[in-house]
Amino acid sequence: MKVIFTGAGPGDPELLTVKARRLLESCEFCIYAGSLVAPEVIGLIPETADKYDSAKLNLDEIMALIEQARDRSVDVIRLHTGDPSIYGAIGEQMARLDALGIEFEVVPGVSSFQAAAAALRTELTAPNGSQTITLTRIAGRTPVPDNQDLAALAETGATLCIFLSVQKISDVAAKLIPHYGDDCPACVVYRASWPDQLVIRSTLAGIHEEVQAAGIKKTAMTLVGAALAKCTTESLLYAASFSHEYRKGNTT
Ligand code: SAH
Repeated sequence: MKVIFTGAGPGDPELLTVKARRLLESCEFCIYAGSLVAPEVIGLIPETADKYDSAKLNLDEIMALIEQARDRSVDVIRLHTGDPSIYGAIGEQMARLDALGIEFEVVPGVSSFQAAAAALRTELTAPNGSQTITLTRIAGRTPVPDNQDLAALAETGATLCIFLSVQKISDVAAKLIPHYGDDCPACVVYRASWPDQLVIRSTLAGIHEEVQAAGIKKTAMTLVGAALAKCTTESLLYAASFSHEYRKGNTT
């Protein structure tokens, strides 16, 4: 018996990995994060399986369910939104499983920051521009270490993918404007890859007003950085004069 932490992807069931889909379709016992996993994804679980929504459970209750499955020798699919390694609270579950001597593995998923970039049809890195992507959040009930405050991260000029923070979008903008400037592209994607996906393209100066007007309060990804502007430079990778292991450069 083992627990398989499985990425449910951002919403669209076609963005599940082949492995996650196979596991869900043959699953007998599933604990899923009901607040964020799409109903179509949960719908892939057989009717006969035991299904539990972890949004209603605390950690002790989740572990008690896993122990029940262990006693029946049934594998548990622990379904987390996006990729389980990002704000998934899987570390604490893994520590409890270790203490109980229960085996586990992880099946990665497409994260919401990737689905948001796809919705925006953008590259998050830019030739001659940002070569770094920072996945972060603003402090909520979960604190953020001082040296990882948005204002500190902003000094790198990296493209920022900001989770769990759209309800504080005016604080986000205020912390970033001194470093990125009023005009820096700032985008919010609500429910990326869901049928009601909403895309807002704005600037750091304008994003707060537009998010408020759209009434977005949760399940949204905020992306900030010059890389989100229309591409104006071409990379070396595909430059005719640039040769590498797989292609001879044309220097004429
Ligand atoms: N593990 C998840 C993140 C969980 S934290 C992942 O890899 O995507 C929950 C936060 O993720 C939300 O507050 C929101 O910021 C973001 N999020 C999750 N699903 C989303 C979606 N479909 N569209 C936009 N943002 C999403």
